[in-house]
Amino acid sequence: MLLFPGVIDPHVHFGLRSRGTVTADDFVIGSLCAAEGGVTTVIDYADHLPGASLGESAQARMGEIQGQSCVDWTLHQNAVRVDQDLVRQLEQLGQLGVSSVKCFTTYKEAGYMLAEEGLAQVVAEAAQAGLLVTVHAEDDQVLARARAAAEAAGDVGPGAHGRCRPSEAEVAAVERVIEIAARAEGPVYFVHVSTAGAAQAIERARGRGQAVFAETCPHYLLLDESAYAGAEARRFIMSPPLRGREHGRALWRALAAGAIDCISTDHCAYTLEQKELGQTCFEVLPGIPGVHTSLMLMGSYGVAPRRLSLARLAQVMCEAPARLFGLGRKGRIAPGFDADMVLMEPCMPRPLVGAELGSAAGYTPFEGIDVCCRVRRTYVRGRLVAADGRSGQALLEMVRAGLLDGEVQGEQDVAGPGWGKFIAASISSGTGDWR
Ligand SMILES: [Zn+2]
Repeated sequence: MLLFPGVIDPHVHFGLRSRGTVTADDFVIGSLCAAEGGVTTVIDYADHLPGASLGESAQARMGEIQGQSCVDWTLHQNAVRVDQDLVRQLEQLGQLGVSSVKCFTTYKEAGYMLAEEGLAQVVAEAAQAGLLVTVHAEDDQVLARARAAAEAAGDVGPGAHGRCRPSEAEVAAVERVIEIAARAEGPVYFVHVSTAGAAQAIERARGRGQAVFAETCPHYLLLDESAYAGAEARRFIMSPPLRGREHGRALWRALAAGAIDCISTDHCAYTLEQKELGQTCFEVLPGIPGVHTSLMLMGSYGVAPRRLSLARLAQVMCEAPARLFGLGRKGRIAPGFDADMVLMEPCMPRPLVGAELGSAAGYTPFEGIDVCCRVRRTYVRGRLVAADGRSGQALLEMVRAGLLDGEVQGEQDVAGPGWGKFIAASISSGTGDWR
């Protein structure tokens, strides 16, 4: 049995409204998936609402989430436009305890893309306010050209997803954003890095002393583009897409060597029925479930085959996200830290079965992949929120029915939805030492 710090997943979407629908896992189900997977803090995203400031947008999202989560949570604030009073808005965001803003270099048609001047301004001002700018980096023009070529060739089925979002789009955008950030003298963090070229560009920038950080996801490490050749291509549609195997190998190396800081899942669960609504690769709802399987997968394919040490696993899944996003009491088991902990156990290899996992998606893109460890207990601030497949809520009901088992002494030992609270990030004021 191994006691591990509670995992921080710095990139999830629970109850995301997008393209006229909402993702299958709301905060109640999503946070339970997290608890069952050993994740004790999640960082979700707040939409930048029309006519609202960044702070007002964050507060609206906080209000929606309040009272639902069984694990702790905090937010990244999307920034899809630059208002006149940007400086004041960023300061307000910091005062609310939100330590990062997210910008996009694509999704122009959806109104998400920031032009380069806007991005440069956000990076410069965020640095002054002590905030980190996270970036979804795919070059919009490269994507537009790939799409036009695919449409001309009539190659737009679900299986064309990877060809319509080529790796060059990510590499070009990452290189460009690194240049912009260097001139703006601010730190940037790349979300869901999926290519060898992006990892190399990040490594070079860090070698020059630039404050550039990155996350990747288990699906980019463990799955590859061959998934799009099958009949089940829709199950693997997320953005950016799965790549060739050489990219996965490069990402493992970058993760071990320190060029990639964090593991996130970009959990964005749709049911297969929702996925089936889209006919072309542009219409299929992009996103996959993942928060419940990340620790098991990283333990099984990172630590067990010695690609990563156990200490490095704790860095990338716990310590680094806590440090980068200002969660001062999270990420370690130590005096003065919250008692967020996971009891893990090695086990005989067994295949993941989507239907048995808690997500309302009903499937996992890792279906049939063997894992050789499991999460037995998850504690958030000292309370059990999941134990051997039972939720904190189920345990609470057992306690109330007088069915106490050994370690559970009473209601004060267990917790269900609503126990998870908003964690206000502490913002290091001014530019200063990028962590
Ligand atoms: Zn995302």
